[in-house]
Amino acid sequence: MARSTETKHLLDEFPSGVHARPEGGPDSDVVLALWTYDVRPVEPVFPFTVDPFYPEIVFRGLAGMIPGLSTYFGRMPKPVVDGGYYTKTRENRPLIGPLPVKGAYLMGAFSGYGIMASCAAGELLAAHLTGSPLPSYAPAFALERYQDPEYQKLLEKWGDTGQL
Ligand SMILES: Cc1cc2nc3c(=O)[nH]c(=O)nc-3n(C[C@H](O)[C@H](O)[C@H](O)COP(=O)(O)OP(=O)(O)OC[C@H]3O[C@@H](n4cnc5c(N)ncnc54)[C@H](O)[C@@H]3O)c2cc1C
Repeated sequence: MARSTETKHLLDEFPSGVHARPEGGPDSDVVLALWTYDVRPVEPVFPFTVDPFYPEIVFRGLAGMIPGLSTYFGRMPKPVVDGGYYTKTRENRPLIGPLPVKGAYLMGAFSGYGIMASCAAGELLAAHLTGSPLPSYAPAFALERYQDPEYQKLLEKWGDTGQL
């Protein structure tokens, strides 16, 4: 593995965040498993390529948490791999609020949590749109945060982005 450029990275320490859940009703034997270990920024291409090692890597990662899964090492059940790109900011916080163009607003960069966050994000955007009082956390999601030198400094020493 160390000798091949294709497999060398498998010996590095992986980021945290491997997760899984059962899929389907009581009779289902399907499990959904996910690990965003490749977080390098890339230009999107379609159709995207899938790491051929992905299912094996995810199962091996999960086995650290659920040791019984090691039974499947070397004899993986037939996996179905699907996925996409995470559209995200550098620090993995979304963009919600006004744009420099008057009357234009933005809500996006929801990374891997956009379904969960959409209701609260919509509420915040609606407050911007209607000129309602903004919650205390509104500046943390505004595009203009990047103009703030203090925020720039914070970005430089940002640790784990909590990527899921
Ligand atoms: C692999 C993966 C797993 C995920 N898992 C979860 C999860 O478990 N829980 C969770 O909460 N979130 C999850 N997410 C994140 C969630 O799917 C996204 O955050 C959410 O779908 C973003 O919604 P959106 O409406 O902002 O953008 P999108 O859903 O990306 O919608 C943008 C739309 O704009 C269209 N579009 C783009 N450019 C143009 C253009 N120029 N003209 C016209 N239309 C255009 C696109 O076709 C698309 O339909 C996951 C994402 C990925 C990739």
